Amino acid sequence: MTPLDIYVLDAPILRQETTVLSEVTDAHRRLIDDMFETMHIARGIGLAATQVGRLERICVIDIDKVKYALVNPEIVASDGEQSGEEGCLSIPEIYGDVTRAKHVVVRALDRSGKPIEIDAHDLLARCLQHEIDHLHGRLFIDYLSLLKRTAAIKKWRKLRGKDKSLTRTMPPRETAEHHDRDEEL
Ligand SMILES: [Zn+2]
Repeated sequence: MTPLDIYVLDAPILRQETTVLSEVTDAHRRLIDDMFETMHIARGIGLAATQVGRLERICVIDIDKVKYALVNPEIVASDGEQSGEEGCLSIPEIYGDVTRAKHVVVRALDRSGKPIEIDAHDLLARCLQHEIDHLHGRLFIDYLSLLKRTAAIKKWRKLRGKDKSLTRTMPPRETAEHHDRDEEL
């Protein structure tokens, strides 16, 4: 498994629509494995293909030791409301409150290409909505008020300083430093 570079805010690919896969191939399964590896090193709980510079409609999630690799995920039902703080591996160290559905039903293919349905509440439901948004070029900061979004982007630019690179390179797992938060998606 190879850790992949994570694309960060300003990278145009984060705003692109992904492509539906007609089948799940070994190449896709390798991408899924690399995405899990990248997400674990970055200590995230979710990661979408656009975040690693790819346009396949694939995302991975690992919450409370339950792992999901989802191909062509689609929200088929949603209800309720929850508000909570979100972060994103593509906008590190920036957080904002986002209101989302409390409960969603998601249909997707698993890594073997088998259709699955996930009935998710709370954090898993939030994570699914965040990742599926990525697969349609949407970021969590899009949900913030103009004022909060502007402040978040300003903070991000300040934290970055002169660094204008569009990717973060993940260190190999052994040397990965531990962050005090692991809620970025
Ligand atoms: Zn994200």
